[in-house]
Amino acid sequence: MIRIENVNKTYPNNFTAVKNVNLHIRKGDIFGIIGLSGAGKSSLIRLLNRLEEPTSGQIIIDGTNMTALNKKELLEKRKKIGMIFQHFNLLSSRTVEENIAFSLEIAKWEKSKIQSRVEELLDLVELSDKKKSYPSQLSGGQKQRVAIARALANNPEILLSDEATSALDPKTTKAILQLIRNIQNKLGLTVVMITHQMEVIRDICNKVAVMSHGKIIETGGVHHIFSDPKTETTKELISYLPNNEESTVNLMKTKGKMLIKVNFIGSISKDPIISKAIKKFDVNFNIIGGSIESLSTMRVGHLYVELSGEFKEQELVISWLKEEGVIVEVVYNGL
Ligand code: ADP
Repeated sequence: MIRIENVNKTYPNNFTAVKNVNLHIRKGDIFGIIGLSGAGKSSLIRLLNRLEEPTSGQIIIDGTNMTALNKKELLEKRKKIGMIFQHFNLLSSRTVEENIAFSLEIAKWEKSKIQSRVEELLDLVELSDKKKSYPSQLSGGQKQRVAIARALANNPEILLSDEATSALDPKTTKAILQLIRNIQNKLGLTVVMITHQMEVIRDICNKVAVMSHGKIIETGGVHHIFSDPKTETTKELISYLPNNEESTVNLMKTKGKMLIKVNFIGSISKDPIISKAIKKFDVNFNIIGGSIESLSTMRVGHLYVELSGEFKEQELVISWLKEEGVIVEVVYNGL
C-alpha cells in the first residue's frame, strides 16, 4: 500500500531530519512510528502526502509514485489521504458541522450531498449531539473527533495521524484510539501514526517502526518489539510505559487461589517479608507482578501474589502479613 524507498529529507539549513528510510506499510495496517522528540517522525509522515518534499528517494502509494505527481494530481491524490494532528486545526468561527462540511466544500462536493455526508460522519465519530457547537465549546477529545470526521470526509484509504493523542488525557486517549481502531476496521483504512507514546503503539498498532536521529532503527510486529526489543532506544521507550499490570492481573484469577496485592511503604520495603512468609506457612506464593518506586520522600512498592494451598492457611498468611505492618489488599478471594 505504502512503500517508502531510500527517502531522505534535508532542510534548507542543511539539517538532515530523515535518513535513508525504507518502510513497507501494508493495506489495513495500523502502523506506528515511534521515537523520542526530534527523531524525525513528523518530518517523515509529512513526506508521505508531500506536505514536505523529500530531498531524495521515492514514496509509492497504491502504485502511484507520489514524488512524480504534478500539483493537480497531488491535490487529487491527497483527497485519499486524511490527516489528523495534535492541535486539531479546527476553524474557530465554524460550528462542528460547518467544520466537517468545509472539507467537502473544498473538495468540491455537490451542495445537495454535503449535509447527508456530514450527518454520516457525525454518526461515525459519535458526535451528532454537538453538531451546532463551536470548537471553543468542546473538550479536547471532542475536538479530535471533529478533526477525524473531517479527515475522513472524502472517503480516504489512508489516515495519517501526527501525534493525534499527545494533547489528551489518558482516558480520552484510550477513547480516541478505540474510535480510530473501530473506524479502521469498519472502513478497511490503512493508518500510519506517529507518536512518542509507547501506549499508543501497545493499544492500537499491529506494526511498529522505531525512529532515532532520522533513521529507522528497528521495525516489526508489535508483539516482537515488545517481547524482544533490540535497541536501547526501544527499551527506553518501553520503560516509559504507564503500568497496566492491574488490568493484566485481573485476568489471572483461578478458583481456590487467592490473589493479593502486598503494598510496602518506606523501610519495610527492605525487609524480606515474602521470604519469611514462605518459610512460615505451608502455602505456595506465585509472584505475578510488582514494582518498587523511589518517591522523593521514601520508597514504596507492591507485589501481586497468587496464593495456593489450604484455604485456611492462605487466610492465615494474610492475617500474618497485616500483623507485620504490611498493607494487603485481596484482589480476588478465590471463590
Ligand atoms: P519529531 O517529530 O520526531 O519530534 P521532527 O521531524 O519534528 O521530529 O524534527 C526532526 C528534526 O528536524 C529536529 O531536530 C528539528 O529541529 C528538525 N526540523 C524539523 N523541521 C525543520 C525545518 N523546517 N527546518 C529545519 N529543521 C527542521
